[in-house]
Amino acid sequence: MDDCIFCRIVEGSIPCRKIYEDGEFLAFHDLKPQAPVHFLVIPKKHIPGMMELESADAPLMGRLLDKARELAAELGCAETGARFVINCKADGGQTVNHIHCHVLGGRSLGWPPG
Ligand code: AMP
Ligand code: ZN
Repeated sequence: MDDCIFCRIVEGSIPCRKIYEDGEFLAFHDLKPQAPVHFLVIPKKHIPGMMELESADAPLMGRLLDKARELAAELGCAETGARFVINCKADGGQTVNHIHCHVLGGRSLGWPPG
């Protein structure tokens, strides 16, 4: 999608601080980190968000979560933990309409979110 900032990161026309890439996924540091560890894991396939997922996407999203866990551990969160978040549409606070999992760690996070 030409007007999708994350698709443009996938194609390389917008730079990112890449953590991981394979044929299906890209992980990169968030531009405005909200915690000492704050990165995003996205599928390369353009899926706008949670509400646009189809049942057939379930294996892809399972692998995305597995990769998020693995990278969180590599970045030092295995013992202390992390938060894995997918914001959805306006009430969920989604600002980029290409599905992504935030991984936040490295400090204690409050609950509930504001
Ligand atoms: P959300 O509000 O859940 O849609 O999250 C979008 C996230 O993308 C925000 O935390 C932004 O800081 C982050 N973001 C936006 N543009 C970029 C970019 N070019 N590189 C890295 N992170 C970005
Ligand atoms: Zn996209």
